[in-house]
Amino acid sequence: MSFTLAIVGRPNVGKSTLFNRLVGKRLALVDDQPGVTRDLREGDARLGDLRFTVIDTAGLEEVTDESLQGRMRRLTERAVDMADICLFMIDARAGVTATDQLFAEILRKRSKHIILVANKGEGRAADAGMIEAYSLGLGEPLRLSAEHGEGMSDLLSVLMPLA
Ligand code: GDP
Ligand code: MG
Repeated sequence: MSFTLAIVGRPNVGKSTLFNRLVGKRLALVDDQPGVTRDLREGDARLGDLRFTVIDTAGLEEVTDESLQGRMRRLTERAVDMADICLFMIDARAGVTATDQLFAEILRKRSKHIILVANKGEGRAADAGMIEAYSLGLGEPLRLSAEHGEGMSDLLSVLMPLA
């Protein structure tokens, strides 16, 4: 049986980088500049022997009249409602921000199953953020480096029993 995984979190934590790694084609734009990606993007993911659908909540970086907070809430809720499992990503280098806490609130209310992922986890610069991540109250964070492909087997181990 297959499942749908939504990757959610504030802008710039590395959601599209993970999406691209899982889908293996550059379907989602990765860019530091605002205004390059839009709304939700769906792809066929492969991770080990698992095949599943992955949703990237792009569109947060878009410039519109709607406030960033409003857009984050709307797009995140849409993605979560489409998904069976929700991958909530934070930036381990930045630690837990107020925006991350807002996301945690949204997710706690709606989601079925939440996997907390602390991305940009390569190197010592991420150590403090890994500890801080527990304060979100979503359990043990999974340390990942979407860019360098570190922690992907740990992600597979977490997803396997849910598939
Ligand atoms: P999104 O806005 O959440 O989709 O984030 P992106 O995937 O567009 O990534 C934002 C920035 O973070 C880009 O410059 C990426 O190259 C960078 N990035 C993504 N993953 C990692 C990682 O594991 N480590 C580091 N150091 N940078 C990363
Ligand atoms: Mg993105």
